Amino acid sequence: MSTRFDSRNAETICAHLGDDPAQHNGAVITPIYQNSLFVMETMEELVGNYIPDQDNNGPVGGMMRKFDYTRTANPTTDVAEKKIAALENGELSRCFSSGMAAISAAIMSTLSAGDHVVTVHSVYSPAHHFLTEYLSRYGISVSFAAGGNVEDFERELKPNTRLIYLESPSSFVMEQQDLSGIAALARSRDIATICDNSWATPIYQRPLDFGIDLVVHSATKYLGGHSDIVAGVVVGQRERMLKVVRNEGLLLGAVLDPFSGWLLTRGIRTLPVRLAQHSKSTETIAHRLYEHRDVARVYYPGMPDDRQAHLTKKQLFGRSGLLSFELKDKDLTAAYKLVNSLQYFGIGYSWGGFESLALARRVGGEMFASSEADRVLIRLHIGLENVEDLWQDLEAAFAAI
Ligand SMILES: *Cc1c(COP(=O)(O)O)cnc(C)c1O
Repeated sequence: MSTRFDSRNAETICAHLGDDPAQHNGAVITPIYQNSLFVMETMEELVGNYIPDQDNNGPVGGMMRKFDYTRTANPTTDVAEKKIAALENGELSRCFSSGMAAISAAIMSTLSAGDHVVTVHSVYSPAHHFLTEYLSRYGISVSFAAGGNVEDFERELKPNTRLIYLESPSSFVMEQQDLSGIAALARSRDIATICDNSWATPIYQRPLDFGIDLVVHSATKYLGGHSDIVAGVVVGQRERMLKVVRNEGLLLGAVLDPFSGWLLTRGIRTLPVRLAQHSKSTETIAHRLYEHRDVARVYYPGMPDDRQAHLTKKQLFGRSGLLSFELKDKDLTAAYKLVNSLQYFGIGYSWGGFESLALARRVGGEMFASSEADRVLIRLHIGLENVEDLWQDLEAAFAAI
């Protein structure tokens, strides 16, 4: 096998891109470089390491000639970074020690004191907190757009708006934002755009292709896929990404450890097949819930009553395994009871792993693009278990309320 690689297909990227057995005694898996330091042959090599040598295959897209220190780059994590950059159609990606480390780094890379950000209410709640509570210390202010149309964002722009932060689909109510429309608006005003793509993964959506500047992921979710790591990643084109690497990456230093980098690559190798199975089972369950007499509404793109069908068609190639639904005429107590009755669904916040999960929560009406009343939702992650086992479990839980 050679180091030449020209496939643009996700399955082949996941299987092979970035791996180079010849560099590692023929080892088919890049070994875990569990070391902080890489030593050089000479002082000249050491001091000349950051003179770019035009070889994009070098560490950090050729930012340096050789690996020197794991806070900067590590050959094990580099494999995951190469695969993720290619999957998202970006030039460079950088892994972080959690999704929030990636999100906070990406956001900070676009802002200075006194700037203004526009986002939507439905973003992941720690990202919401970071934007509203934490960044206010630095004089950064935030506005919320309803999020259904581009005009909602345009109305919120101010002369000092420097960032539009998106999450599409969002991870509780699955609301989408018009990525190409918002990216075009932002570009015309020299505003940066970031999109959290954890729900769809690059297998089902590629925000950079719609003109978004940076994509962020909680790699803890589908990219890792086995509920055994906490990781994050930022992806974009080279120039913008080199700033993220040099500043927020190196200076804040929330690097992914090599073992987690190795597990992340292992997860990515099966990403397309895992997602195909999550998707197939979730579509089955979503349609059965939609037909169920106790269910008022199913929140999952592409349902027959999808209010954002135009965005689903334009932006998503497929649908992952996270959906929510609303019970007919039932309160939070009934929703808790349903979740507590489930046998195969763990009760917990995370998702994107092999296993099914459930939780119930009251959701504020402002989370919806069209702004509605508060409602009680049950969120399910449909794992890789047998789908009929999962459905029987759900039916028994419905019977229990
Ligand atoms: C979990 C999650 C995050 C945060 O990721 P961590 O790895 O837990 O820091 C960010 N965005 C979304 C949509 C998530 O679900």
